[in-house]
Amino acid sequence: MMGSNILDTDVFIAGGGPAGLAAGIAIRQRGLRVMLVDLARPPIDKACGEGLMPNTVASLKALGVKLCPADALPFRGIRFVEEELVAEGAFVDSYGLGIRRPSLHKALVERAVEAGVQCLWGERVTGIAGGEAWLGSRRVWSRWIIAADGQNSQVRKWAGLDRGQPQETRYGFRQHFRVAPWTNFVELHWGSNCQIVVTPVRSDELCLVVTSRSPRIRLREALFEFPEITRRLNGAPPITRDLGAVTALRVLRRVCRGRVALVGDASGSVDSLTGEGLGLAFRQAEALAEAIACGDLTCYQAAHRRINRLPEIMSRLLLALENRHRLRRRAILALAKEPRLFERLLAAHTGSFSPLSVGFGNLLRLGRRLIAEPS
Ligand SMILES: Cc1cc2nc3c(=O)[nH]c(=O)nc-3n(C[C@H](O)[C@H](O)[C@H](O)COP(=O)(O)OP(=O)(O)OC[C@H]3O[C@@H](n4cnc5c(N)ncnc54)[C@H](O)[C@@H]3O)c2cc1C
Repeated sequence: MMGSNILDTDVFIAGGGPAGLAAGIAIRQRGLRVMLVDLARPPIDKACGEGLMPNTVASLKALGVKLCPADALPFRGIRFVEEELVAEGAFVDSYGLGIRRPSLHKALVERAVEAGVQCLWGERVTGIAGGEAWLGSRRVWSRWIIAADGQNSQVRKWAGLDRGQPQETRYGFRQHFRVAPWTNFVELHWGSNCQIVVTPVRSDELCLVVTSRSPRIRLREALFEFPEITRRLNGAPPITRDLGAVTALRVLRRVCRGRVALVGDASGSVDSLTGEGLGLAFRQAEALAEAIACGDLTCYQAAHRRINRLPEIMSRLLLALENRHRLRRRAILALAKEPRLFERLLAAHTGSFSPLSVGFGNLLRLGRRLIAEPS
């Protein structure tokens, strides 16, 4: 720390959402000084499906983040539902966690503080240039600058990095209901022009998110299309307000330039239906910390590409089903008849198995079913 208007650090992080905090913790684990700045104050809420896949839970453990058991509920796998059709895949030897977003943020902040990250809350990053970040009239000198300021990253723009074309932009709205969960799976219910994701987050609470191409489709109206969910909610009113956010598949060519690197949604994103945004952010944070510790961001560029590849493919596959009712029914029917294969695909998606372990023969059989199943 220098004069009151000039600060210094090894690594400056713009954005204290999950990605910025995870990067801060991972870099502190390697001994560098970290300053993190966010314009909001913790615990920060955000529209989210609030489901952590098993590999995301493992990343949190590696970062030393401790989740309060009363604040999180394990789930066993993923269930696809389309009218009367149901297909479910269980995780192999692992579990996911449903957790309210502010509870997750609180746990990350506690761990960041414990690890020695210097956090400045309620402050806006107003610019960066040549190894300096600006907080209004104050300057921070830093060897490395990390942009973790979300989808519409300003730091990315100031660093001269391409924002990428959001290839598929959709909208998500979230609310909670005080209902004992009827399921220990995360359920993805497909409708004609929207989807509802149901995540059990507490022993008496569910998180519901509706996603669609329209910013006007909210849960209240969407539920008319999903009589089974409405029946199960049994008239329980929502206990949180409607919170919305954009979800987009966005692929960037470059995620670092000079001494600036992007992480989390600032570095590109996948559709929320994959349930992978947080997991990607945590895995990228580890890779970025490793690259910074080695003093070479080119390894981060390569690692980022590797980390994002499969979730991007999954995002495209799920979005391909969005407006194709008959194909979707065939896919769900095929997965319902091949529960073991569904489990393998899920294990590959969540990193428990290599994608190759799914097997060409199995994929061929699934392909045949897709063509042959009556819809
Ligand atoms: C509807 C929806 C459902 C989702 N469901 C899931 C799910 O179930 N599971 C999952 O894993 N992922 C899910 N995601 C994705 C997940 O929410 C994101 O990937 C995750 O929030 C990315 O974290 P981040 O830290 O990169 O960005 P953010 O969470 O957006 O954080 C960015 C931070 O930067 C701060 N900031 C911005 N500009 C500045 C500035 N100039 N100065 C200082 N601070 C600044 C903001 O205040 C914010 O705190 C979902 C997303 C959506 C939209």
